[in-house]
Amino acid sequence: MKRSFDPSTLTLPNGHFIGRSYVSGAAALSVAAPSDGRILGDIAKADADTVDQAVETAQRALRTTGWANCAPRDRLRALHAWADLIEAEAETLAKLEAVCSTRPVGHVAVGDAKITATQIRFFAEFADKEGGDLAPTSAGQLGFVSHEPYGVVGAITPWNYPISMAGWKLAPALAAGNAVVLKPSEMTPFSTLFMAELAVRAGIPEGLINIVLGDGQTTGSAITGHPDIAKVSFTGSTRAGGAIMENIAKTGIKPMTLELGGKSPQIVFADADLDLVADCLARGVLPNAGQTCVAGTRLIVHRDVADELSQRLVQAFAQEQPAATWDDPAGFSPIISNQQLQRIDGIVQAAKAEGGEVLCGGAVFDRAGSFYQPTIITGVTDSNPAVTEEIFGPVVTFQTFDREEEALALGNHPTYGLCAGVYTRDLSRAVRVTKALEAGTVWVNRYGRSQDHILPTGGWKSSGLGKDLGREAFLANRRSKSVLIDL
Ligand code: NAD
Repeated sequence: MKRSFDPSTLTLPNGHFIGRSYVSGAAALSVAAPSDGRILGDIAKADADTVDQAVETAQRALRTTGWANCAPRDRLRALHAWADLIEAEAETLAKLEAVCSTRPVGHVAVGDAKITATQIRFFAEFADKEGGDLAPTSAGQLGFVSHEPYGVVGAITPWNYPISMAGWKLAPALAAGNAVVLKPSEMTPFSTLFMAELAVRAGIPEGLINIVLGDGQTTGSAITGHPDIAKVSFTGSTRAGGAIMENIAKTGIKPMTLELGGKSPQIVFADADLDLVADCLARGVLPNAGQTCVAGTRLIVHRDVADELSQRLVQAFAQEQPAATWDDPAGFSPIISNQQLQRIDGIVQAAKAEGGEVLCGGAVFDRAGSFYQPTIITGVTDSNPAVTEEIFGPVVTFQTFDREEEALALGNHPTYGLCAGVYTRDLSRAVRVTKALEAGTVWVNRYGRSQDHILPTGGWKSSGLGKDLGREAFLANRRSKSVLIDL
């Protein structure tokens, strides 16, 4: 199916989505298209009063619909209907995603919508299958643990996978019986607004999903510090995660899930299948032009296979061709903003100035829009920012090792611990290295989560707190109450 479209023909939803309709506010933030730099329009910025209005709407919806205490099967049915509608409207969602984000309209953004529908169904099924626990108590007593929703959950999402991230936050929270006030990234708000509209159309009671637009400083802080928001679920940078922790500490303690940045290693041993490795290494970095939290951007390769692998990677990287995200089939994704493009180039040029050798790329693509060439840097020290900082672009460092301990020393980042990849045919080594790696997810002889939502995802160290996806994400949206009755 041909999916190319003219962005100027698209009707963009605008306004905060509160209850069942759009609420306008003074236009305050411009949304741009990274594919060619055009300004698509201005969106409103919610102040504390607008966030209050959204929270009150969510509380009223919980009171009047009985969402938390209804037959769990009713929640399950409503979520399934929403998933069906998301799937049916995948093309429209993909266009709203592609116009302002880095996700191409073709199979990528459509795929995001379809996978999100599957994930909503996955969480819907917990609604009537996860119960409380009976406690072993003395005769004459009844003890049990009741699992209850929080009430209103505050969610904040980043720009890099807007549909997916909204699904990850909304689906488990709703399935567990909560209402949500969600702020999408100010750079990519449209698909999230449409998802909320679809939820109401699908029969999820109005007021359970409220979307407020705005930046982190004003709108985000109003959410995380709101006294009637009982839990915060955040995905974004480690910097913003720290600011959120600080705000929560100042405004009232509440539980939080933080999915933060990473600087993940891919470690290749000499016995690995190099055809498989070359493919996995590239696919671990190039999708979304490296703007993926789990991007495996530190390649740590055994010296015996380093030359061959670097040659194969240079070839693979050189094939990437940029294209506007609304062209089908689009190629390589743009960088989200010109500011971020300049930051990436700054890190690459500084690495070169400090003796790094650029094996390929190392420059901005000479065309309209914010596109950066897939880049491989070698010969930099462990302390170079190219190795230590999350670049969030198509840039990898290439380091070599001789011994397993060296690989582990390079692999374990001093602060981040989101993911890691290990390539070897030696099963004992795979298990040993997996155990020694300090990361929330380790892949062996593959890289990336593909479409798997059964396994929880989340980082160690400064990469996060708590998990998205999996049963853990559902459980994180409920709190337990121990009850002991003398009969
Ligand atoms: P960001 O931290 O700049 O912004 C993320 C969201 O937080 C946005 O909606 C923003 O408006 C809001 N925000 C910013 N400061 C805030 C504050 N002080 N209080 C409340 N809200 C605030 O991140 P980004 O540039 O949008 O996304 C890229 C980052 O997200 C990368 O670091 C990436 O690794 C991370 N990420 C992590 C995961 C994961 O699962 N671990 C997934 C996707 C992205």
